[in-house]
Amino acid sequence: MSVPASFSVPERILMGPGPSHVPATVLGALARPTIGHLDPEFLALMDQVRDMLRGVFQTQNQCTLPMSGTGSAGMETCLVNLVEPGDRVLVGVNGVFGTRLAEVARRAGAEVTVAEGEWGRALDPAALEKAAAGRKYQLVCVVHAETSTGVLQPIEPIRQLADRLGALLVADTVTSLGGVPVQLDARGIDASYSGTQKCLSSPPGFSPVSFSPRAVAKLEARKTPVQSWYLDLSLLLKYWGQERVYHHTAPINSLYGLHESLRLALAEGLEARFERHRKHAAALAAGLSALGLELLVPAAERLPPLTLVSVPRGIDEAKVRKYLLEEFSLEIGGGLGKFKGNAWRIGLMGASSTRRNVSLCLTALGQALAAQGHQASVSEALAAAAAV
Ligand SMILES: *Cc1c(COP(=O)(O)O)cnc(C)c1O
Repeated sequence: MSVPASFSVPERILMGPGPSHVPATVLGALARPTIGHLDPEFLALMDQVRDMLRGVFQTQNQCTLPMSGTGSAGMETCLVNLVEPGDRVLVGVNGVFGTRLAEVARRAGAEVTVAEGEWGRALDPAALEKAAAGRKYQLVCVVHAETSTGVLQPIEPIRQLADRLGALLVADTVTSLGGVPVQLDARGIDASYSGTQKCLSSPPGFSPVSFSPRAVAKLEARKTPVQSWYLDLSLLLKYWGQERVYHHTAPINSLYGLHESLRLALAEGLEARFERHRKHAAALAAGLSALGLELLVPAAERLPPLTLVSVPRGIDEAKVRKYLLEEFSLEIGGGLGKFKGNAWRIGLMGASSTRRNVSLCLTALGQALAAQGHQASVSEALAAAAAV
């Protein structure tokens, strides 16, 4: 076998559904020398990571840590730790990630009730209540930021419903953490998982997870062991807590990167960061409308870090994405699930949420559409964006 050349990474501008742009200081942190995962200096870094995660999750939860694995590992962590065989779990499904939540809950042994909602719209709490059919539930699960549809789910009415059902509330915050307020404590979210490659702008590889004291109490009261040894939080807390009992080797360099990206988020200030995400999403929306494109989600339910755009009739959507990549080195996402082939997903996540990226995307999209005969004025789109 001939040895391949060292991999040369093309320069890309990341405006898809994740990963987002990783800042140079985060990349620099990843390249620092590897030290032992039980080195006292490394343990101090782990503590700081946990503190900073509490900051971005807006929680005091003692049980807050980054799971080694991507967002899906966090989803699995929440469910395998909180579900005992036969537990009743109600899942609101209005996109791909809700569908995945239901599947993971089933595999964890739950009796799952799915409340289907319209894709591209927030879940209707009344529909969830109807699906619940007067029974009690151990868990209610929803996706706070549905990356397949670009919808931001209001949590308050779902929390009230979970109270009526006697259930803990699990929320997927993979695309909201660091981009829109998640407020675990204020909203009464009992368990949540996120990812690092979306609004935190770290490479993929960790899933921050946080459990409320009530969720920890359910874990401690289990009659059966957690089915996954690797994802068992009661074991992991002995490694991440004061005892430092070896469980698995923490991905050391990746944690340097996460530490730096959390530092950047908190130094910017969460409120300022949320405002930046809102402002650039509004500018993008205005520009897209000026290009004659239709947004799939009503304004009040839109998720600032991710915008769903309808593909106009007669346009080859994959060809547009290929044009953006080849002519502008710009990555946007195609549709997922029911929106496959008829929508684009444009991300403005974390460090990718900049005015320059909004302008670039509008320019590139306008040209790509013009190349397929769609009438669109780039200058009008840029003016509309600038006016926001
Ligand atoms: C990306 C994403 C996931 C899965 O995360 P991975 O890092 O791809 O495993 C789960 N939920 C939502 C809402 C996501 O956007």
